[in-house]
Amino acid sequence: MSLSSRIYFPPLGLLCFISLTSSWSYLEPGGTIDWSSKNNTCDETFQSPIDIITSEAIDKRFPPFHMEHYSTTADGARIVNNGHTVEVHLNQSPAPTLSGGGLDGIYTAVQFHFHWGSSDNYGSEHFLDGNSFPMEMHIVHYSQKYPNISEALTKKNGLAVLAIFFEVTNCNNTEFQCIIKKLPSLRNPGFPTRVYCNLLKLLPKNFDDFFRYSGSLTTPPCSESVVWTVYPKAVKISSWQINQLRTQLIRIYDGDRTVLVNNFRGLQSRNNRRIYKSIIDSGATLPRQFSQLVFLLVMILSVANLELFSSAGVI
Ligand SMILES: [Zn+2]
Repeated sequence: MSLSSRIYFPPLGLLCFISLTSSWSYLEPGGTIDWSSKNNTCDETFQSPIDIITSEAIDKRFPPFHMEHYSTTADGARIVNNGHTVEVHLNQSPAPTLSGGGLDGIYTAVQFHFHWGSSDNYGSEHFLDGNSFPMEMHIVHYSQKYPNISEALTKKNGLAVLAIFFEVTNCNNTEFQCIIKKLPSLRNPGFPTRVYCNLLKLLPKNFDDFFRYSGSLTTPPCSESVVWTVYPKAVKISSWQINQLRTQLIRIYDGDRTVLVNNFRGLQSRNNRRIYKSIIDSGATLPRQFSQLVFLLVMILSVANLELFSSAGVI
């Protein structure tokens, strides 16, 4: 996830170039590994993203999420190319809020953004069973226990992030067009503009089946303050749509202008963290559950046959 809460969004009509200075980049010579040389936290124990191994996750059924104002048209929301990603700031009233789902209290949504690769083979930050996805969306919330996101990110569980994978198909995702149609005006970093998206419709249909673990921001300062919710069921996006992201945005590093792609951090060690899965019937796990059921039935029938043959004196 990326935090750029220091960006100032002027009122509409006063939109102007905003100087975005950043102390980090995905293009540093040492890659994202080099971030720890300037931010000690990036080298700590409970970092993100991670590879989530379904078979090692602990079953735990969390209560359903409760989302408020997610479907409200985001009047007041602004979208910007911040030089690291395309990001939507939800400075609207009333703010979308998230509770339930095993979270401690109510969290306010402040922004969402994306990580993507230069091909369909990679791009997501989290992996699932060793597999990456071409894109991942992060919806960033902070706990209402704290007055603002800056203070929340210094606290354990101060932030809650929903992570949504995307997979590529031939059909456009009509809900994602709110982002795509803004890209031509976001080519250069730092020009925010108004956007209208229905956040609820960017989520997987079943948002109560998920993985849960404690981790960090995936960009400096890498604060270990995040309750992660990772959805196993990917949202679909077309090849044309993801290629708009790969080709229309520019970033500047060391004086060079390049297309904004591969804006994801490498995998971090799980370090014996507990990863929970709260999944009943997700399509992502259905085949495995189905195969287990078939195996059980075969075993029962085999035993029944053995007893039948045995009682008939065949064996
Ligand atoms: Zn992110």
